[in-house]
Amino acid sequence: MDFAFDARTQELRERLLAFMDEHVYPAEQVAHEQRAALASPWDTPAVVEELKAEARKQGLWNLFLPDAKHGAGLTNLQYAPLAEITGRSPQLAPTALNCAAPDTGNMEVLAQFGNEAQQKQWLEPLLAGEIRSAFAMTEPEVASSDATNITTHIERDGDEYVINGRKWYISGAMNPLCQIFIVMGKTDPDGADIRRQQSMILVPRDTPGLTVKRAMQVYGYEDHYHGGHAEVLFENVRVPASNLIGEEGGGFGIAQARLGPGRIHHCMRLIGMAERAIELMCRRAVARTAFGKPLAQQGVVHNWIADARVAVEQLRLLVLKTAWLMDTVGNKGAHTEIQSIKIATPRTVVDIIDQAVQLHGAGGVSQDFPLAELWAGARTLRLADGPDEVHQRSLARRELKKYL
Ligand SMILES: Cc1cc2nc3c(=O)[nH]c(=O)nc-3n(C[C@H](O)[C@H](O)[C@H](O)COP(=O)(O)OP(=O)(O)OC[C@H]3O[C@@H](n4cnc5c(N)ncnc54)[C@H](O)[C@@H]3O)c2cc1C
Repeated sequence: MDFAFDARTQELRERLLAFMDEHVYPAEQVAHEQRAALASPWDTPAVVEELKAEARKQGLWNLFLPDAKHGAGLTNLQYAPLAEITGRSPQLAPTALNCAAPDTGNMEVLAQFGNEAQQKQWLEPLLAGEIRSAFAMTEPEVASSDATNITTHIERDGDEYVINGRKWYISGAMNPLCQIFIVMGKTDPDGADIRRQQSMILVPRDTPGLTVKRAMQVYGYEDHYHGGHAEVLFENVRVPASNLIGEEGGGFGIAQARLGPGRIHHCMRLIGMAERAIELMCRRAVARTAFGKPLAQQGVVHNWIADARVAVEQLRLLVLKTAWLMDTVGNKGAHTEIQSIKIATPRTVVDIIDQAVQLHGAGGVSQDFPLAELWAGARTLRLADGPDEVHQRSLARRELKKYL
């Protein structure tokens, strides 16, 4: 077993680390200040566009896309350590590199399942970072962790489909740059096979009947950096039949394919968030004195730091193993590991960030440190892309099958 990075990964890591030091970290405060002065908080601060231009110039662009025709052609194992580095500044770095969710998953869908016309119209501007996109599946009225519950109708009418439904927590949709929605709904709600009832369809933002109604909050935050998480209405929305992605009834299968790589990306970024929290924890512990000695000399702080380091090393190995399996035996063969990382990573990283918050006292919950935002972001990943319990259910059923 070889734990070393290969030459390409190593070279990209070094360039990315330098990009983070020279451009991303210094831009964090600038972005906050610029956003506060924007006419709408959903607009993009100028510094973000500058970061994108610089990343593209340096060839640190679309690294997530394994397809060499459209992206960098990296394997999951090569990209994962790079995603980790971007997780250290989750508000800026993934966007700067055009590697931010939900665009990454949407670009993968278009690259894998989109036809030539769909790729030309939507994939190309997404790859160029000119527009953003959203993925609309979850609905307030039904338990959407079970995708078979989705009620949005996609009904064929001549050369068009008519879409009716209500979605919420649609990430990125508040950003005016978000020009295209991939919508999951049912084309055959009464079909015998509940996994063939769903389809995915492209809906441009300016289509009559599509209303981005409001920004849902996350623990009281409006998540401006990620384009918010919107409630979106589809009322008699008509799009050409050619907007369907793949075939009717193929939506469930596409959703499964979309989520595999996305989970590696989320988990590696989470590990980067944990690394940032550990760094902040250590810096604070040596700089802050209470009851006559630095916090770094308190035994309990040693325990926090040591436990955090052990947990991060364990998680990283598991995520990298999963990436390697996906590259070598495919997403299906990596099923148990993909579920495992999605269960283990967010909750462990939430705990690590929480301890860093604790060590910072009131500063930890404030806007002067990134910890509160990191915590809220990590906590939502116990829900987004499927709640913990759904992954536990799926993993346990597969494990039990061996004994039935
Ligand atoms: C910040 C954020 C961003 C998001 N972005 C998007 C997006 O861009 N697009 C999109 O479509 N959706 C998005 N979501 C929605 C997310 O994917 C859903 O919230 C998630 O799939 C759960 O669906 P639900 O909220 O309907 O919860 P429900 O399905 O109602 O589940 C509620 C709870 O029930 C429990 N539960 C469910 N099933 C089981 C089970 N089998 N066993 C035990 N317990 C169970 C779990 O604890 C679960 O949390 C986002 C959510 C958040 C918080």
